[in-house]
Amino acid sequence: MSSYIPEDVLRNVLEAANIRQVVGEFVPLKKSGRNWIGLCPFHPDKDPSFSVSEEKQIFHCFGCGEGGDVFKFLMKMQGMSFVEAVKALANRYGIIIPERPRSSRDQKRHMETEELVSLNLAAAEFYHRNILHSPEASDARAYLESRGLKSDTISGFRLGWANDRWDGLINHLKTEGLSLDRAEKAGLLVSRKSGKGYYDRFRGRLIFPILDRSGKVVALGGRILEDGHPKYLNSPETPVYNKSRVLYGLSQNKGAIRRAGKGYVVEGYMDLLALAQFNIDQVVATLGTALTEDHVKQLRGLCKDWILVFDGDAAGVKAALRALPFFYKLNLRVRVLVLPAEDDPDSFVRREGKEALEALVDTAGTGLDFAIQQGLASYGKDPEGRFRTTEDVLSILQPVSDPVRKSLLVGHVAQKLGVREESLWERLNVSNSSTIVPNIRKRYELSVEAKIRKGPENRAEAKLISFLLGYPQYMKTFLDAGLDLWLEVPSLRNLWMAMSHLYSMSGNLNLPDLYDQLEPVPELRTLALRLSANFAPFEDMEEKMLSDLKRYCEDRRNKVLRWNVLEQIKAPAEIVDDEDLLRQILQLR
Ligand SMILES: [Zn+2]
Repeated sequence: MSSYIPEDVLRNVLEAANIRQVVGEFVPLKKSGRNWIGLCPFHPDKDPSFSVSEEKQIFHCFGCGEGGDVFKFLMKMQGMSFVEAVKALANRYGIIIPERPRSSRDQKRHMETEELVSLNLAAAEFYHRNILHSPEASDARAYLESRGLKSDTISGFRLGWANDRWDGLINHLKTEGLSLDRAEKAGLLVSRKSGKGYYDRFRGRLIFPILDRSGKVVALGGRILEDGHPKYLNSPETPVYNKSRVLYGLSQNKGAIRRAGKGYVVEGYMDLLALAQFNIDQVVATLGTALTEDHVKQLRGLCKDWILVFDGDAAGVKAALRALPFFYKLNLRVRVLVLPAEDDPDSFVRREGKEALEALVDTAGTGLDFAIQQGLASYGKDPEGRFRTTEDVLSILQPVSDPVRKSLLVGHVAQKLGVREESLWERLNVSNSSTIVPNIRKRYELSVEAKIRKGPENRAEAKLISFLLGYPQYMKTFLDAGLDLWLEVPSLRNLWMAMSHLYSMSGNLNLPDLYDQLEPVPELRTLALRLSANFAPFEDMEEKMLSDLKRYCEDRRNKVLRWNVLEQIKAPAEIVDDEDLLRQILQLR
């Protein structure tokens, strides 16, 4: 599916989508006056306080204050990003998202990518048929059986077998009329030293197709059955495969991760598949490389709670320590599960079972405590040991961007290591000033010249969004003010939706990340860039603007709420008798 969504498609989707239908799939609704009401899915609700207006195409909960349009509902309910919610609805209502008009260079690159992906797919399917039917795969089938892999895991993950031959895949590609030159580019074949012809890269190996986030086969992993070298062999990096971005299982398991609200990171495909045997599906795996910041960025949109389930040996501990700063930087909560030293997730879950693993997960300490504990264990508890531990822990604290979280964590570390908080802050501030200040200054310098341009947008709403892009620390204030309910300019509302999603997933609004996320929606990206440039941050204006905008928001919010409440009054008597509702009406006057 296309990754480009023009503004008019957004509008078509909004027009076609019926919020009652969409909500109705998750929440039983019954008619009440002009609205539909039900039990709120976002907070424990005993009396129906969740109301849906078909007329206005919005939902609102009087219990927890959650509200917004159909995109917001899906984002919140399914943990989707804004773009994913738009795509899901477009799909459902048969609205076609057109291909982005491409330059000829883009077009060429696009065709190349598609070709590499389809070759990888052809190879994966060929190897998969081998493992199901080829007589040469009997050892492989016996091996998978001995590891307890069920047939639906084998078919779900399209596991395969490369026969131990130099030309197994080559012959298959030839019969299919596929290009051997391109298959070499895809990393499936290797050029002969003589320069003439190719041979199969994967021979005598179990094959694990590696999918990107959207489910395209971008590479293959191969594991030898018995002893041999190398034990693991993956496709080399190609235009479609970058191993420091791709996570094994992400495409297949992202739904399970969202549903569980927490995810496990393990160190390899065998661990992931072993857990799948026990119906533990909220898992992704790295591919024999360290976890990178790009990897963690992929995880950020799915849920906030992550558990690193790494091997209990020294290498596993080291890998976990290296990965922690990325989670803290991206404002995710991370814990580290330490398995007994001789175990990996596969051996542990096979011996002890699912419940034992989950019980162990529940006791896993935070990443920060893990780092402290590991430091003290390896450097010692004397002053010098505690100093070296502090050094390690500072690299985790440094990138934390939320000031409240940072302050709490610094206090915690100070107490645990017996260091004065002030000393920690001194160290943190020294390294801070060099990196962050120039960025802020640059942004401000860019924006001072610009003035708010007249656009089709409602000026007040545009001003509000551009204020938030300039002062993201007020996101929470305005989230609470219920912008979802009343922003009327569709493009601004959509931009706000993307901002609030990023904010709720990562705990802050980082503009480069926002622009990244809006890549598929060029109109919104341009709008965000324009609005953030429009914002002139005169320091003496901040408070005045803030209080003006707050007052404006409260006014708009109250109007919408009053409208909703009045709607409900036309509902049957039992609702009118609702004491809470009456109290709300009084408050709104
Ligand atoms: Zn609620």
